[in-house]
Amino acid sequence: MNLIAIKDYVKIRKEEMKKEIFSLVRKPKLVIIQMNDDVASNSYVKGKLKDAEELGIEAKLIKLDESSSEEQLLTLIDDVNEDETVDGLIVQLPLPKHISEIKVKERINPKKDVDGFHPLSKFKACTPKGIVSYLTYIGFDFTGKNATIIGRSNIVGRPLAKLLLDLSMNVTVLHSKTSIEDRNFYLKRADLAVVAVGKPHLIKKDVPLKKDAIVIDVGISRLDGHLVGDIEPRDDVLLQTPVPGGVGLLTRLSLMENVLEAYQDGISR
Ligand code: NAD
Repeated sequence: MNLIAIKDYVKIRKEEMKKEIFSLVRKPKLVIIQMNDDVASNSYVKGKLKDAEELGIEAKLIKLDESSSEEQLLTLIDDVNEDETVDGLIVQLPLPKHISEIKVKERINPKKDVDGFHPLSKFKACTPKGIVSYLTYIGFDFTGKNATIIGRSNIVGRPLAKLLLDLSMNVTVLHSKTSIEDRNFYLKRADLAVVAVGKPHLIKKDVPLKKDAIVIDVGISRLDGHLVGDIEPRDDVLLQTPVPGGVGLLTRLSLMENVLEAYQDGISR
């Protein structure tokens, strides 16, 4: 295996994408609708705009006031769905309480749903896609190996389980009702452990893991003013992804890959 750091992998992929995008007849276009003034969302949106600019993707941010109605948001989504110059559309979460997240996700044209949230979206959800692409790049051998995923959310745990099953892994998905004893049992057998919970250092460094395990830390939380993951840093496994500078970078990269894919699909439609 080529255990290249995530930041270096992302750099290589971005260079490849830049070249590809430069050769296109027009720039791929992403629209981001944001209907909150959440500090974390602002920083995620800023990151997406920065990535797009770096790669030569046109990105437009449309901010809707939090007091706008659901109808106003859905109408805006319809307009972007119909705009042929737009390849990808994302609605930044969280949404205000009076807006139905399900209705919003279902309203986005699946062909433009680059977050991969629509049930019929033709795109893979960004975090699972990024994790699998990175593991593939480093030469991880999925077939017949044990994956333990902690967290069963619709954006990470569940879609990742499907991707790993499709790659013939033996997949176990754990969650908030799993006992610590069972959690430790499944972690001990994992060739690949992915933790996506959002509880700082939930998995302590003395929890036994295989010495050649690959450990992917999806969680991001604040602890004593620092960003930390779900897993205490340890040096007794083959690879542990850092937080920050780990899965977050892969997620951002996948979003841009999906926008490029949406552009390519658009011209062949
Ligand atoms: P979520 O709240 O939707 O899901 C959390 C999951 O953790 C649930 O399925 C729950 O059953 C499980 N869980 C809760 N407590 C548990 C416990 N004690 N033991 C085992 N499982 C437990 O969260 P999410 O949207 O999947 O995000 C999870 C974390 O990953 C958050 O910190 C989020 O910020 C982060 N995240 C990071 C990225 C990235 O790109 N780096 C992307 C998505 C999410």
